Amino acid sequence: LPIPPLCLPPGTKQILDLPLHVLDDKKRLIRTFEVCNVAEPGQNNWLRTHFIERHGAHRVHVRVRFSVRDCSSMRAVASSCKETFTLYYHQSEADTASQELPEWREGPWTKVDTIAADESFSQVDSTGKVVKMNVKVRSFGPLTKHGFYLAFQDSGACMSLVAVQVYFYKCPAVVKGFASFPETFAGGERTSLVESPGKCVPNAEETSMTGSPGVRLHCNGEGEWMVAIGRCTCKAGYQPIDEERACQACPLGFFKVSVGDDPCHLCPAHSHAPLPGSSECVCQNHYYRSASDNSDAPCTGIPSAPRDLSYEIVGSNVLLTWRLPKDLGGRKDVFFNVICKVCLAGSSGPCVRCGDSVQFEPRQVGLTESRVQVSNLLARVQYTFEIQAVNLVTELSSEAPHYATINVSTSQSVPSAVPMMHQVSRTTNSITLSWPQPDQPNGIILDYQLRYFDKAEDEGNSFTLTSETNMATISNLSPGKIYAFQVRARTAVGYGPYSGKMYFQTSVGGERSEMVQDRLPLIVGSALGGLAFLVIAGLILVMFWPVSSTAGLGVKYYIDPSTYEDPNEAIREFAKEIDVSFIKIEEVIGSGEFGEVCFGRLKHPGKREYTVAIKTLKSGYTEEQRREFLSEASIMGQFEHPNVIHLEGVVTKSRPVMIVTEFMENGSLDSFLRQKEGQFSVLQLVGMLRGIAAGMHYLSDMNYVHRDLAARNILVNSNLVCKVSDFGLSRFLEDDASNRTYTGAPGCKIPIRWTAPEAVQYRKFTSSSDVWSYGIVMWEVMSYGERPYWDMSNQDVINAIDQDYRLPPPPDCPTVLHLLMLDCWQKERVQRPRFEQIVSALDKMIRKPSALKATGTGSSRPSQPLLSNCPPDFPSLSNAHEWLDAIKMSRYKENFDQAGLITFDVISRMTLE
Ligand code: AMP
Repeated sequence: LPIPPLCLPPGTKQILDLPLHVLDDKKRLIRTFEVCNVAEPGQNNWLRTHFIERHGAHRVHVRVRFSVRDCSSMRAVASSCKETFTLYYHQSEADTASQELPEWREGPWTKVDTIAADESFSQVDSTGKVVKMNVKVRSFGPLTKHGFYLAFQDSGACMSLVAVQVYFYKCPAVVKGFASFPETFAGGERTSLVESPGKCVPNAEETSMTGSPGVRLHCNGEGEWMVAIGRCTCKAGYQPIDEERACQACPLGFFKVSVGDDPCHLCPAHSHAPLPGSSECVCQNHYYRSASDNSDAPCTGIPSAPRDLSYEIVGSNVLLTWRLPKDLGGRKDVFFNVICKVCLAGSSGPCVRCGDSVQFEPRQVGLTESRVQVSNLLARVQYTFEIQAVNLVTELSSEAPHYATINVSTSQSVPSAVPMMHQVSRTTNSITLSWPQPDQPNGIILDYQLRYFDKAEDEGNSFTLTSETNMATISNLSPGKIYAFQVRARTAVGYGPYSGKMYFQTSVGGERSEMVQDRLPLIVGSALGGLAFLVIAGLILVMFWPVSSTAGLGVKYYIDPSTYEDPNEAIREFAKEIDVSFIKIEEVIGSGEFGEVCFGRLKHPGKREYTVAIKTLKSGYTEEQRREFLSEASIMGQFEHPNVIHLEGVVTKSRPVMIVTEFMENGSLDSFLRQKEGQFSVLQLVGMLRGIAAGMHYLSDMNYVHRDLAARNILVNSNLVCKVSDFGLSRFLEDDASNRTYTGAPGCKIPIRWTAPEAVQYRKFTSSSDVWSYGIVMWEVMSYGERPYWDMSNQDVINAIDQDYRLPPPPDCPTVLHLLMLDCWQKERVQRPRFEQIVSALDKMIRKPSALKATGTGSSRPSQPLLSNCPPDFPSLSNAHEWLDAIKMSRYKENFDQAGLITFDVISRMTLE
């Protein structure tokens, strides 16, 4: 309805419930209160709202919509014309206001603000329309009474009040971080934060992250939740759902072990959760958790019985060995206990536990390794050994541990295992192998049984062959195939255990010929009849005669590549260039001085593929470094011997520059021995030493002095063949203060511990100084890669050697080998044996393994200086007296005589005790 605007006359004191009806700037009918008494000074007009209930609000906001006309646009205005008005409030417990009260003045009313228009207007158009609208928000608090009134005071403005909106803020009830918070009103001050305590939802509990207990949220002045303190999280057995708003019980078969936000997990192996909300899964029958297992670990069982329990009689001791149980019960830990029973009237009589005198090495219970040596056994007695497999849950189980049993009669024993096999020759379809007789034949060997199978096929498809000698030719094989071989000896008592598997490959037509030279002495060493010996001795003569004669005529000597004016010329002469496309690099296996060492394959067109090692020269090298890098190939390329690493060729025409050599599966000897500690027989170790000595014999015949012979520079292939490597000389030039092995002034780094004293003192490097180093390699091999002189400093080593200290025999080292080492460490280099003599001394030992029986002291540390000694076949000494004279110990002659120590054979078996 078009209602005319109601202008408030001067002096109006009106309650705000009679507004005017006007059209707003959008031509909508609105109701306004207007005043425009600008011509009369002293205006004081009031409008008051009805009673407004507080409803719990602490602070109230008032949005006012109004327009003001500017004083200057009007004619005949008093100087008191205003462009503002004032907003007040008055709190009251009840609606008690009247026309007079509260009084129309500041005092009973609290002033909120004087409000000015941002935009005043100067004209009213023909329709009387208000042109510019203002909106202002003011707030006040804290409020404490039941309700309040608002009032607007005009002091002489021309204005209209269009709308008044009164409101307050509150934070809504919320569930956050697994806690519920009630609806909370904003605080009385604009900046106040009202703290609201939360309650954890069902199955959640508080996690105190701040240290102070309680979960709290804060409601700010604008009704927003903020500043969370503490939080709740789901209990064990419950998992979060619905965006941190609830905790749900883990379903059947699932568990949650601890309080937290994690989800439930499926029960681990052999356990179950029969109820929802499980914090732990219980083990199924016959499965357990040990005290050290976490409650979320799988449940495990006891191990099955050890497999393949076998024995070997070593003197009066029994060595029991077995394989791990097939089923470890799902655990990694497995231990073995040995139960020893003695059967009084042979196997048919009653068996009782062995007495305390029987000893077990390393121990009787809790063995971690699959072997035990039993000593102090009675002769001609039947023993029964039970090997129990136990683990950490055995004691929780009601089941008895599973075990394997073996009967051992100390009167009769089968022969021990054959220690190793050698390939004598091979063709495309046959392989000839030989082997030494077992360390303990325990009787007359009737024959050997050889078992073999194609490595690529199942072990079950094996063939056997019987040989009356310790050599056999296996025919009808396929070309280029790898076969596994095992051999065992038979006596009247029965078969001994099979030897470890050894792999040999038939040849492929057109490949490099196999050299048999280093294997012949072993054939000689086998127990062949006298006639066979003569035939083979004749063969040796035929084979070696041309070699020694040509060497005697000085046919082939090593040429130092640095003597070439153009080092590339040396490379061209001694190393074959390989087309890089023939090489396939497969993986990085080590790092050399100049770059990475990789494993790869080399395939020349039309030939078979070889596995190779590839040394690369890293990018950014200098010409000098390239020359040094390739010098190793120029040296290696001049050698061709089964115990010297074979150079396949070099890649120099593309980048990176590479040296390609045959691949040695077992890497360097020192680390190989450390990994396999105690796992080889003495004969196998001597076989390795023999190979190294043969390689060095060849190199010394070539007039090549190695200068850095050490186990780290010997490489080992899968057949345990050792080859001399590392012909680079640059290591002697490097200047790396942190290097513990090579020390000395820049340009002359020396591996002190391996080097002969004359080479350390005045750089006298000869094949005799290589022999000294060879003695150290022997010591490294027999001690399975121990560091020579342990942690003594280099200077201490130099001083000790000067005072005739020599390394003592490593544990279990046969005395003859230590004597040979001592011989290599003769102070006077001319007194050291030559490599040729070392090879033949080792061959003798291989032929007659009984010489390797006697071992030195049990101590591996030097207890007292051991003087250098001479080997049993030292040519110039014929008896013990001469020997004692030679080592300045003549005063002991009488003691030696009394003890019957007259021949070298007896002396060589003597221990330090
Ligand atoms: P080098 O620079 O010759 O000392 O070689 C570094 C490392 O690479 C050696 O210690 C071996 O572990 C490995 N390596 C070198 N040559 C061969 C190879 N022909 N066969 C297998 N591994 C090798």
